[in-house]
Amino acid sequence: MKPSNSQTIDKESICILGIPFDANSSFKRGPALAPSRIRESYFCESSNLWTEQGVDLGTLKGLYDVGDVDCCNTSATFETITRKVTTLLKKDARLICLGGDHSITFPIIKAFAKEYKTLNILHLDAHPDLYDSLDNNPFSHACPFARIMEKKLASRLVQAGIRTINGHQREQADRLGVEIMEMKEGNGWLNELQFDGPVYLSIDMDCLDPAFAPGVSHHEPGGFTTRQVLDIIHRVKGNLIGGDIVEYNPDRDINSMTAMTAAKLLKEMIARIFTDRLSES
Ligand code: MN
Ligand code: MN
Repeated sequence: MKPSNSQTIDKESICILGIPFDANSSFKRGPALAPSRIRESYFCESSNLWTEQGVDLGTLKGLYDVGDVDCCNTSATFETITRKVTTLLKKDARLICLGGDHSITFPIIKAFAKEYKTLNILHLDAHPDLYDSLDNNPFSHACPFARIMEKKLASRLVQAGIRTINGHQREQADRLGVEIMEMKEGNGWLNELQFDGPVYLSIDMDCLDPAFAPGVSHHEPGGFTTRQVLDIIHRVKGNLIGGDIVEYNPDRDINSMTAMTAAKLLKEMIARIFTDRLSES
């Protein structure tokens, strides 16, 4: 993962973009600090740059860190995100964004939907994030998937890891045609799940059980093991073309353990995107 100037980015590229933005958090701030901490853990010498799938990210050509989106002006940040993501996708690059709170997925998907006529989203989270509005904020981190589905930016939204759904969000899911695999149903769905066409993977770190990922704002017991999330990244059927890792909160972390977990998920996601693209051509 080398720094890049924009000229080097082309259809062979996989780009990592930081979005240090947490102004739409409802409970605790902190995820704005995440991108730099995840990068640190990615390069931490306690591990190496080979993935479980046998890809050496240390020598992988076209893997670029394209820096952070400027999030200083809160009210302009969503537009800045959509513009930056659009620029990278226009160069046919693959893209993984590091949040930030989960509100950033809406402006990211706005850009993806322009480039991909059919777009499937697989969303791993303790929460469905389908509120019509939370704390009078329709762009809260609790709302992005309501906005995405209302604007018909995804042909299919499948959520897994869910264990906090309430009456309002269940109504929203029915109204918006969201497919939900609740945590109580187990992981058997993974073998059945198949996507036609491009898949965007949005990972909220609180999809993991707090025992595995304490560095999140919302500790919701009963979540995925790290192994289960890795299995999903490796095995989900479809063509993975991009994604995000959001809601890591360094203020709540213990010995950077959750940063290491986020970095590992990032590594495996890069390798999956790389191998899916190879099998495309
Ligand atoms: Mn979320
Ligand atoms: Mn969540």
